[in-house]
Amino acid sequence: MPRSSFVGGNWKCNGTCNSVSSLTQSLSTTTSNIVGAEVVVAPSTLHLPFVFKNIRGPIQVCAQNISSTGSGAFTGEISAEMLHDFGIRWVILGHSERRKFYHESDELIGEKVRYALLKKLSVIACVGESLEERKNDETTNVVTRQLKAISDNVSDWSRVVIAYEPVWAIGTGEVATPEQAQTVHETLREWISKEVSSSVAEDVRIIYGGSVKPGNSKLLFEKADIDGFLVGGASLKAEDFAAIIKSTL
Ligand code: PEP
Repeated sequence: MPRSSFVGGNWKCNGTCNSVSSLTQSLSTTTSNIVGAEVVVAPSTLHLPFVFKNIRGPIQVCAQNISSTGSGAFTGEISAEMLHDFGIRWVILGHSERRKFYHESDELIGEKVRYALLKKLSVIACVGESLEERKNDETTNVVTRQLKAISDNVSDWSRVVIAYEPVWAIGTGEVATPEQAQTVHETLREWISKEVSSSVAEDVRIIYGGSVKPGNSKLLFEKADIDGFLVGGASLKAEDFAAIIKSTL
């Protein structure tokens, strides 16, 4: 069976009550007739309940982070079980901004993946190399090392989407070429085939993130191993996000 496309919108630390309300409303309209793609949006934790209650149509709601622990004496954290209890079923883990600004290690990300899956969440697990690592020809080593830390903690691959997000393309306007992205996606799929199983490799969605816009998504999506997108900036504009989703149908 062909893999269905997957598109995530990462709103990051953006939004006010007003802007989140109007984006939720616009997205509900612009995506109402979309069929055939799995779509999630990830508002800030504070805006999650509002978006969860008010979004209409085919869009699911996703968190941007969880604690690696359960509920308890962990001030400032949000647990997987809280999200699940609320009805939220997705979380982004291993985003390069969490790795870089909050010093999240491969090991911690692995623990979060394990805990999220244990508590019945689905995970968008991100990997990607920095510009320096790419220049030093370390891309394959970096992304497979990150993928191994994730894979070692996966109990159910049907609830995992892998996002390849080269750090140098995130929020920079510099998108990977379809060929550059395809090369890494193929490497990731081959790694999964060898280290996990050929059927998991065949089924798992590997999505690309890094300055995806309506103008570049179609050509990227034409590549055999690109199953959709994780979108930052363009997901804050309902028309652009809807156009990106439509380019995957
Ligand atoms: C992201 O934050 O995951 C991302 C890909 O951002 P942008 O689309 O803005 O590059």
